[in-house]
Amino acid sequence: MRIFEETESQVRSYCRGWPALFVRSKDSHVFDEHGKSYLDFFAGAGALNYGHNHPVLKNALLEYLTDDHIVHSLDMYTEAKARFLETFRDVILRPRGLEYRVQFPGPTGTNAVEAALKIARKVTGRTTIARFTNSFHGMTLGSLAVTGNGRKRHGAGVPLEHTLTLPFDQYLDGSTPDLLWLRRLIEDSSSGVGLPAAVIVETVQGEGGINVASPEWLRALSLLCSEHDMLLIVDDVQMGCGRTGPFFSFEESGVVPDVVCLSKSLSGYGLPFAVTLLRPELDIWEPGEHNGTFRGYNPAFVTATAALDEFWRDGILRDTVDRNGSFVDSELRLIADEHADAGATVRGRGLARAVAFEDANIAGAVCRNAFERGLLLETAGSDDEVVKLLPPLTTHREDLDAGLSIVADSVRAARK
Ligand code: PMP
Repeated sequence: MRIFEETESQVRSYCRGWPALFVRSKDSHVFDEHGKSYLDFFAGAGALNYGHNHPVLKNALLEYLTDDHIVHSLDMYTEAKARFLETFRDVILRPRGLEYRVQFPGPTGTNAVEAALKIARKVTGRTTIARFTNSFHGMTLGSLAVTGNGRKRHGAGVPLEHTLTLPFDQYLDGSTPDLLWLRRLIEDSSSGVGLPAAVIVETVQGEGGINVASPEWLRALSLLCSEHDMLLIVDDVQMGCGRTGPFFSFEESGVVPDVVCLSKSLSGYGLPFAVTLLRPELDIWEPGEHNGTFRGYNPAFVTATAALDEFWRDGILRDTVDRNGSFVDSELRLIADEHADAGATVRGRGLARAVAFEDANIAGAVCRNAFERGLLLETAGSDDEVVKLLPPLTTHREDLDAGLSIVADSVRAARK
């Protein structure tokens, strides 16, 4: 079978040109048409936290389809929807003392963000949304407007009038974790900085290059938001569903956002699915005010429910992520030490890890070398200078080990 040429794939607007035809996948592996196996440390940019074709989720889906249950239902209340809502409440929200209304905003992460931005404007009656440098929130106009990374907005003519850019944690050398400067600007009418309706933040910036916000900074941000009646929106599209260890990435900071966006690994099986979680008093949508044909997709409800049952009723997955995250971190530190002269640095939380280089060419070459050696990786960061590792949370230790050896070899080859 013919592989798409690079130019063709660019026309189709994909950014990754892996020259292979992929045909099958299982656990942390994908296979090309020749049967060559690749370890997948890309994992659908965080959409496959439980790996490919997990048998429990697959069986739940097959059973559902075989028994002619409802696939498309739009506004109908279905058994699959009811079971998902009940399980999400019992397994995720209640044990964490969280109370949220669950909204189905559309099939993907960018839809969850759009709903969050709209409700923030409606609730507060204000229009400005504060966003952070290097952030990424999606590809539709609203979510692009609050995306800090200018390269992603390239050419789209995105209206930015109602956005306010703030420096992400550590941007100012970590010298102002209390955000005092922002407080002053907001409180001083002579500054011209009007009060935003909301602040949207990733606790760990995924596309931005695995930039980790400190718990202190998040708490300061949350305090400022509540004191000034700005909504705190946490975009947990990439870092939620256990990527950093706990189900929600903000859990350890003690912060309780007003609005949370989830998608990617929520269906557990790579099916399109998103939710926007709203504090109950914020749920002031009128019927039909935010709708769409594919919001709430029953096959995704089924696999999502099975995933919550399988992975989140106990704390085993979380412990695994903590343990394996530390392992990946220490292995990456060895690599960074070996390449300190290339300015290699390591960062991350849980199983969202990265090694950054001063020269983006090195990061690109590492990913290409890794592909040849049977490992899928992607670059991230404002200049694509970061090699990002997002292995499925269920990846076996020996596969993590094998993948990390490939990373080490690939960096050496990139620097020859
Ligand atoms: N928010 C974050 C933090 C993301 O990482 C992404 C996707 N990379 C999105 C939103 C957009 O999600 P989607 O691509 O599903 O629209």
